[in-house]
Amino acid sequence: MPGAPDSIAEDSKGAEMSVISDHVVHAGKPWSAIVQRGQRLRIIDLEGNQGVDFLCYAASNPEERYHAANTLKKSSTLLLTSGHVLYSDVARPLMTIVSDSCGMHDTIGGCCSAPSNEMLYGVKGVPGCRENFLSELAKHGLGRRDIVANLNFFCNVPVRDHNRLEALTFAQSPSKAGDHIELRAEMDVLAVISNCPQVNNPCNSGQPTSIRVLVLAA
Ligand SMILES: [Zn+2]
Repeated sequence: MPGAPDSIAEDSKGAEMSVISDHVVHAGKPWSAIVQRGQRLRIIDLEGNQGVDFLCYAASNPEERYHAANTLKKSSTLLLTSGHVLYSDVARPLMTIVSDSCGMHDTIGGCCSAPSNEMLYGVKGVPGCRENFLSELAKHGLGRRDIVANLNFFCNVPVRDHNRLEALTFAQSPSKAGDHIELRAEMDVLAVISNCPQVNNPCNSGQPTSIRVLVLAA
């Protein structure tokens, strides 16, 4: 059962790992935690087709943080999967994707927000992942200036001929119920998640749902 809590989990090779924390993050809600070096962050899309916005910082010095351009230049792709490394602004590894059953995670679509929802879809006062990031970052003494171009797990932003993007930017999330991504922390990191509430583009298939987030240790 992908949603059932337990105290012991296995990594992708079947080795037992202990569960440091295990939370269901409901649709539209944020989550954050320090993930220590060597620990794993496993995110499970419980019902499928759910986008998960993600930011990551060096825990000891959050000025060092996830850098989209360094990451995609090193990986030579816009869609990340197993084996790809999340690099910081000073090109140090923050996290490595060690397991991924979905196969693609967007690097360019960024987070939704109340202002962009009005700009793109004409809806007023509809908050999104940016507002989730702001509330969650505030718990760690961080704020607006700390939001950078983020990752979107379980999301696909197709790039068409002549570098065109889709009219609604996002295609439907490709993930199936129970799909997961697992990342190993390469240093102590602050991981910040917004379980995306968007209903105006296909990234959540119009129906945001819960995810399960585990921190695991070998
Ligand atoms: Zn969003």
